[in-house]
Amino acid sequence: VMDGSSCRAGAVAALQGFVSPINVARAVMERTPHVLLAGEGAAAFARDQGLAAIADPNSWFTGAGEFESNHLPIGPTHGTVGCVVRDTAGRLAAATSTAGVFGKLPGRVGDSALIGASTWADCQLAVSCTGQGEFFIRAAAAAQVAYRMRFGAQSLDLAAQSVLREIASRGGAGGLIALDKNGNIAMPFISTGMKRAALLLDGTIVSEAP
Ligand code: ASP
Repeated sequence: VMDGSSCRAGAVAALQGFVSPINVARAVMERTPHVLLAGEGAAAFARDQGLAAIADPNSWFTGAGEFESNHLPIGPTHGTVGCVVRDTAGRLAAATSTAGVFGKLPGRVGDSALIGASTWADCQLAVSCTGQGEFFIRAAAAAQVAYRMRFGAQSLDLAAQSVLREIASRGGAGGLIALDKNGNIAMPFISTGMKRAALLLDGTIVSEAP
């Protein structure tokens, strides 16, 4: 999670057993001098902070694909939830949460928990990415969108598309959601699909950038 107005950030990786990893990440941001806690240390911190633990994993988790009819025939390969927001004062924030990718090696950390790779917010924009994390890490994808805008004077749209083009040219796939300080929205993807939606100020919900 990253708060654009203060440029503070917090993250957890390889954390198991807590209801909301994003709440743990936020506590790292707000209550420690650190940015990223991993594994047992992250769990101990979450326990110390009194953050909600999952009492019964069997009743908490839904098996992949259950109750859903729109997965690819080959089955899901990864799944991430991202959110970018702008308040009425123009302040931006981004958050990304994931279980990672199927078939990963134990201990693998993807892009979602890495500030700059899949999550970024500053005074100008907020970005959250999804896809094959290794490609997003190697492109510093979320920060790259920001820097293309800041140093290259690119529009949000062009910056977002350019980063995804770079990832596609290396064989990666995925997408991102992004929002700038003026309220411009971008939701491009180079994967087969990307579930997405934007809630506008007037209360309408759209799946394409207006
Ligand atoms: N980016 C995530 C990862 O590589 C997966 C996803 O976005 O679904 O861990």
